[in-house]
Amino acid sequence: MRGFLRDELKSTNKGATDVIFLDRDGVISRKMPLHCHVLSPDEFEVLPDVYEALRLIIESGYITLVITNQRCLALGTLDDDGFSRINDKMVSELTTHGVYVDGLYYCPHGNDEGCGCRKPEPGLLEEASYDLGRLGITIDRSRSWMIGDDETDIIAGKRFGVNTVKIGDDVPDLLAAVRMITGTR
Ligand SMILES: [Mg+2]
Ligand SMILES: [Zn+2]
Repeated sequence: MRGFLRDELKSTNKGATDVIFLDRDGVISRKMPLHCHVLSPDEFEVLPDVYEALRLIIESGYITLVITNQRCLALGTLDDDGFSRINDKMVSELTTHGVYVDGLYYCPHGNDEGCGCRKPEPGLLEEASYDLGRLGITIDRSRSWMIGDDETDIIAGKRFGVNTVKIGDDVPDLLAAVRMITGTR
């Protein structure tokens, strides 16, 4: 896999599970201006509503996985080390606030490489599903969600067969999205 899964998932309750897939840039972290990417930990800033949103997600029993396109790796403006330092910052910021995500999957390919993992393709969600399956966890797609701020997130979610919420259109931010989702349970 490209990314990480928390070790704690190995001891999680087995069986069917509801998952919330989250885009990263513009959902968890502040989006850089158009055509710029987060290239250093200093540029990675968690949005203020995210901690409360993750608290609510965790209390509600969802597994949370971040699904992110990182074309900057193909462009060479970011290398693997740089990307993992940004991931480390994300994890440590969340930990400091008492929350976490269960994993992260990323696509390192460019627009024109025709890979199956760059959103709007659902490859990263399929890969996550496969990996969870190996841990005895089955994603209940009808009760799972993809939350993103871009149409490509929504298409990837639909192709994978989960419900979708678009930040910016349906709701203003992640916290509002999560309140809507957990309110319907
Ligand atoms: Mg985004
Ligand atoms: Zn890819």
